[in-house]
Amino acid sequence: MAIVQPVETSNGHRRLRVASPATKEVIGEIPVTNLDEVKAAVERARAAQKKWAARSIDERARIMYRAVDILSKKQEQYISVIMRETGRSHFETVMMEIFPALDSLTYYAKTAKAALADERPGLHLLKVKKLLINYKPLGVIGIITPWNGPFILSLNPTVQALMGGNAVIVKPSEVTPFAGALVAELFREAGLPDDVLQVVNGDGETGAALVNGGVDKISFTGSVATGRKVGEACGKNLIPCTLELGGKDAMIVCDDADIERAAGGAVFGAFFNTGQFCCATERVYVHESVAEEFTRKVVEKTRALRQGAVGEFDLGPMIWPRQLDVVERHMKDAVTKGATVLCGGKRNHALGELFYEPTVVVDADHTMALMTEETFGPILPIVKFKTDDEAIRLANDSPYGLSGTVWSKNDERAIAIAKRLDTGSVCVNDSSITYGAVEAPFGGRKTSGVGQVNGEVGLRGYCQAMPIVIDRFGPKEEHVWYPYTADKEKVLQRIIKWVWGTPIGRWMS
Ligand code: NAD
Repeated sequence: MAIVQPVETSNGHRRLRVASPATKEVIGEIPVTNLDEVKAAVERARAAQKKWAARSIDERARIMYRAVDILSKKQEQYISVIMRETGRSHFETVMMEIFPALDSLTYYAKTAKAALADERPGLHLLKVKKLLINYKPLGVIGIITPWNGPFILSLNPTVQALMGGNAVIVKPSEVTPFAGALVAELFREAGLPDDVLQVVNGDGETGAALVNGGVDKISFTGSVATGRKVGEACGKNLIPCTLELGGKDAMIVCDDADIERAAGGAVFGAFFNTGQFCCATERVYVHESVAEEFTRKVVEKTRALRQGAVGEFDLGPMIWPRQLDVVERHMKDAVTKGATVLCGGKRNHALGELFYEPTVVVDADHTMALMTEETFGPILPIVKFKTDDEAIRLANDSPYGLSGTVWSKNDERAIAIAKRLDTGSVCVNDSSITYGAVEAPFGGRKTSGVGQVNGEVGLRGYCQAMPIVIDRFGPKEEHVWYPYTADKEKVLQRIIKWVWGTPIGRWMS
């Protein structure tokens, strides 16, 4: 049985049945929200948003802090819902979902007031005017999210949009609807007024209905293929969007890297969330002089991983057959083209249908899908390089550009390499943790996305930066107003000559 299955329609609604990826037990059913209901939700949100925007940022922050208290106290309840739907370990659920959620709530509650306060930058030339920039909510934000971080990827943009004074409609993945719905539950309990945050449920049809449902912005996280469709629809509707899409992150291990740490980082980076992480380490390029030691340590550490479904374990199952199919296709193609499997390389049938063993592969190259397409599974291919230039060329030889990592004991060298990577972010001597560094603007280049989320950039992205230009002295008329005369133009020409034609003028302008 698939993890999400359509079941019979009732009361005019399609219904989806959701099952656990680890045990295949049925978790529950969701009625699919149809187009009319999505539109009605947007209308309710629009009415509620006006009152929400009228509340001070301090009042909005108080609700975030209440959510922090509730989530801290009731975290076990939240963890069990997320674990059931994802098959993840308890530890990983705390690390990947609860910890960053508490951080996001607190960080934006604390910083939004300063980030969204009116600004009054001086004007460099028009000294007779004043400029005020007001950060105004956009209105109703549609947030569409994937299954691989079902709570945090729904909560984090919601927090930013709400702190900006917007109403929000979340469409969680149909694979993990109950974990997505926790966001609304949390804010309801924290005292967020009705309809400021709503959840609509369903698959792509509901997502498309939300994009076309009259919202003012879409914040989308998911695959490149769906991101393209969402981007096209937003273009047609002339609404802004951020598209946080897939990746094929490269890890570059220099000859002077701490090999023990780099090997540990590679294993964590590749197998965290069973490799189903947008910034997973999907390709390793290691300097030939340290490749043998590095690969030996990676294989040792991979063999020590505990795969499981209950109790203490390191990695769980793949989330659904669709993703497992990609993994198996990439592995088959790689082996056919000459790759060597050092460990793993097959399903772990003893645990269940969706368990794939953590796998290390060498002798891989860029003719293989494993090195060029997003795998989103527990596979770590290792390739040797001779020079930094070659490593950078290989890392950039990808349609994706989400994140990446560089490992060297020489920070300057690592930063110089990082700057030459065509990606949205890079981590030095750590796995890709940019999304967890809330201050850091996060987004991809090339097919990995459009726009950035998080930090001040993300928060302001949910607002219109509205400039208000104010006259200072109120003369009866301005020099450039009618009538246009030759004398008036002479004055303009004198200004041009002085401002851009003299060193002091250029310095002052
Ligand atoms: P997906 O694109 O299949 O689905 C994402 C969401 O879009 C789901 O809620 C889905 O129902 C919805 N959807 C599907 N068709 C739609 C349409 N036509 N219009 C609007 N919405 C539609 O992605 P997925 O399989 O759920 O997630 C995995 C992908 O997400 C991977 O590629 C991964 O790299 C990416 N991802 C990216 C980031 C990031 O921040 N860059 C983070 C996490 C995951």
